[in-house]
Amino acid sequence: MAWSEFDLIARFCADLGSPRADVALGVGDDCALLRVPTGMELAVSIDTLVEGVHFLPGTDPQGLGHKALAVGLSDLAAMGAEPAWATLALTLPQADAAWLEAFCRGFAALAERHGLRLVGGDTTRGPRSVSVQVHGLVAAGTALRRDGARSGDLIFVTGTLGDAGLALAGAPDADLAQRRFVQQRLDRPTPRVAQGRQLRGLARAAIDVSDGLVADLGHVLEASGVGATVQLERLPLSDPVRAQVTRSGDWSLPLAAGDDYELCFVAAPAQRAALEAAARAWDCRCTCIGTVETALGLRLLDRHGAATRSAAGFDHFAVSG
Ligand code: ADP
Ligand code: MG
Repeated sequence: MAWSEFDLIARFCADLGSPRADVALGVGDDCALLRVPTGMELAVSIDTLVEGVHFLPGTDPQGLGHKALAVGLSDLAAMGAEPAWATLALTLPQADAAWLEAFCRGFAALAERHGLRLVGGDTTRGPRSVSVQVHGLVAAGTALRRDGARSGDLIFVTGTLGDAGLALAGAPDADLAQRRFVQQRLDRPTPRVAQGRQLRGLARAAIDVSDGLVADLGHVLEASGVGATVQLERLPLSDPVRAQVTRSGDWSLPLAAGDDYELCFVAAPAQRAALEAAARAWDCRCTCIGTVETALGLRLLDRHGAATRSAAGFDHFAVSG
């Protein structure tokens, strides 16, 4: 049957995610009306996924619904913000109810896991693209910004690095189970929302690793006016990524591949015990990979303590030696 744009919105988008008492008015009017509690700040971020650029034509819509929201939730996690609301701008080549139903199923499952409500959006016809704006709440003055790192702080990352990059590269040497694992990491990233929440008050600065560790840690260092040394041997790697790095001697996957959506954060050494105690309850690893220093630039040390120059694309980061 032929669906109009309005039918599609009403059917799939009007009641999506967790109902929330702070939504005075959701989908259906010219604007949503949302209540920001006194003393809280609104954390807002938007990301766009374009077919042919960020995902391939024919990509499973349910997975895309998950990922489109996950990348926004990862931004909220990196600020230590609580997910609250989202708006969704969809551009679709045709009113395809099956595609939209599956997309919304993937989106809704993740939204419900994080107590988030879809409160509005826009639907247009054209080459397929998806924009999700997320809105989170964080007590005023407590958000984890990029500019809080200080010399002497320890640098940590959650989870493992390079898995999504290995999937993008086709994981040619991985076995079937490993290939499934890295593909899942690429298609269904897990935003580290609970970790971000707990890092408020423990970490001094944080960012999510969407463009690769060197680039994203680089943003923290630059914003904070500091440098750092990272020990390559300490980078948390899954078995297939470790095998690939060992085979090739090339650290580009964990250093420069994007799409992992882990958190990279820095904390004062005095917070280390509290941090490690909190991290014991996490469903992912938490690994100290290096130290913040006053000397600008990012130094990458191999296990012999020698500076390593790795993949192209971050040659502008100073490498000692
Ligand atoms: P307007 O012309 O006032 O912009 P629209 O026709 O674009 O209104 O949208 C009607 C209602 O449906 C609005 O409340 C809008 O937020 C909502 N909406 C439209 N598209 C979406 C979508 N993809 N997801 C969620 N809500 C949507
Ligand atoms: Mg509109």
